[in-house]
Amino acid sequence: MKIVITGGAGFIGSNLAHALAQRAEVSDIRVVDDLSTGSKDNLVGAGVHLVEGSVLDGPLLDRAFRGADVIVHLAAVPSVSRSVADPLTSHHANATGTLMVLEAARRAGDVHVIAASSSSVYGANTHLPKHEELRPAPLSPYAVGKLAAESYLAAYHHCYELPVLPFRFFNVYGPRQPAGHDYAAVVPAWINAVTTGQQVLVHGDGLQSRDFTYVETVCRVLAEAVLRKVVSADPVNLAYGTRTSLGELITELEAVLGTPIEPRHLPPRPGDVRHSHAENSRLRSLFPAVEPVPLREGLERTVEWF
Ligand code: NAD
Repeated sequence: MKIVITGGAGFIGSNLAHALAQRAEVSDIRVVDDLSTGSKDNLVGAGVHLVEGSVLDGPLLDRAFRGADVIVHLAAVPSVSRSVADPLTSHHANATGTLMVLEAARRAGDVHVIAASSSSVYGANTHLPKHEELRPAPLSPYAVGKLAAESYLAAYHHCYELPVLPFRFFNVYGPRQPAGHDYAAVVPAWINAVTTGQQVLVHGDGLQSRDFTYVETVCRVLAEAVLRKVVSADPVNLAYGTRTSLGELITELEAVLGTPIEPRHLPPRPGDVRHSHAENSRLRSLFPAVEPVPLREGLERTVEWF
């Protein structure tokens, strides 16, 4: 199989590239990435071909998609707070970028498109757990872009019979997730803070909760979706229904790192949702064989990588 991963030099994409490179069924992996947040270093040893450039470049996509069997579209400006600071850049990369990928897939023909949406689309809809039939209520430009992206996938399935699969990722963490920048996710940001002697910063009261998913779990699902060409026009939550408050995450990290953590609380950030917890019966029915890596084990492996 020939696979293209957009955003493949980033955190999740590079983990997927390394995972797929081990599979006998996969003969060729191409990565399309503008290296805006991703890095070539993430791909060392994966044996992939990097096509450096933007998903907003149609001719570049045409070249990269030629002969591909599956496209895993992960390229995005993947941050709620960055989208609040700069909504247009977020929209171009996330919504228009997805449309560009779908158009290039349609031109290429006979290709399956798997794409990353986000739990942030549930936004202001406070119902828990989050199941896919809930009314989306985006709270940030990022969430709007992701809702547009997954809606485009469904539309391309209906209008052009393009085989698609939109996943709603929850909070993914693990090796190769960068820390030490303004938009870093909590797990790497906090591990980095503790291991470099800085204070752990918590936006809000710490009672907000997330469904943390280890990146290897995500890649197990993505790899199966690629190899079995699983199709669904409806979005699929990709998380395993473990609800962890940020306070509980700190307790877990204290155990894993073997040190007490005294966080400093900052005001809540605009655009952030309060609670996020997946209902995943759709995922379980499509991918019954995948077992998730538990939070403690995932945190241990992430700390080892640091
Ligand atoms: P990441 O920033 O590590 O990866 C995104 C990659 O896309 C980077 O390598 C970046 O250089 C590339 N990119 C950005 N704009 C591009 C463009 N215009 N053209 C080509 N490449 C471009 O982020 P990630 O955490 O690996 O996220 C991967 C996907 O998963 C994104 O679509 C993100 O929105 C989604 N997602 C992630 C999480 C999470 O918890 N990490 C949660 C929900 C959804």
